[in-house]
Amino acid sequence: MMATTHRLGGIAVGATTAALLHTDVGGTVIIFVGALVGCIFPDIDNRHSRISRKMPITALVVSIGQYITRIMTSFLPKKQKRYIRSLAGHRGITHSLVGSMILPAIVILIGLLFKLNTGYILLAGLGIFVGCLSHLALDMLSGGVPLFMPFSTERSVIAEIKTGGYMEWLFRLSLAAILIFCIIGGI
Ligand SMILES: [Zn+2]
Repeated sequence: MMATTHRLGGIAVGATTAALLHTDVGGTVIIFVGALVGCIFPDIDNRHSRISRKMPITALVVSIGQYITRIMTSFLPKKQKRYIRSLAGHRGITHSLVGSMILPAIVILIGLLFKLNTGYILLAGLGIFVGCLSHLALDMLSGGVPLFMPFSTERSVIAEIKTGGYMEWLFRLSLAAILIFCIIGGI
């Protein structure tokens, strides 16, 4: 799925989470920002993605890590090599349930370390987490993701919508229409 579709997904889960938790204005903003970061974060494993282009240093570190992984695994038996490379490659560990907890855990740890407002820190972590989950759900509609990595490399697939194809545009418009309907309805 394209970055705009992922952003719409992030807005949808951010709004739903804030509505379910009846958060105050500050909490709602934090969940939204978290969800907007989380909904594009998993594609940090792809140097051509929008987030990689916005964070060139992080993308460079990821690319170097992937390059080193390729070199270091070239001497391993075929099965182990394929497993480790699938962890580090595009739609690898960052596109799994375990990977979705990495950034929220880092943010919560940093927040606690700097003794920031615990409630807001947890909301930030939750926002990032649900944003990541929305990304996984949308990628499951276009080729699938290894949801249970590192325990299994099998991809969970719901549908095979072509990225950037007319079906994605149709899906995106439907998602935008539902969001507008919910905002007008005050949900
Ligand atoms: Zn992705």
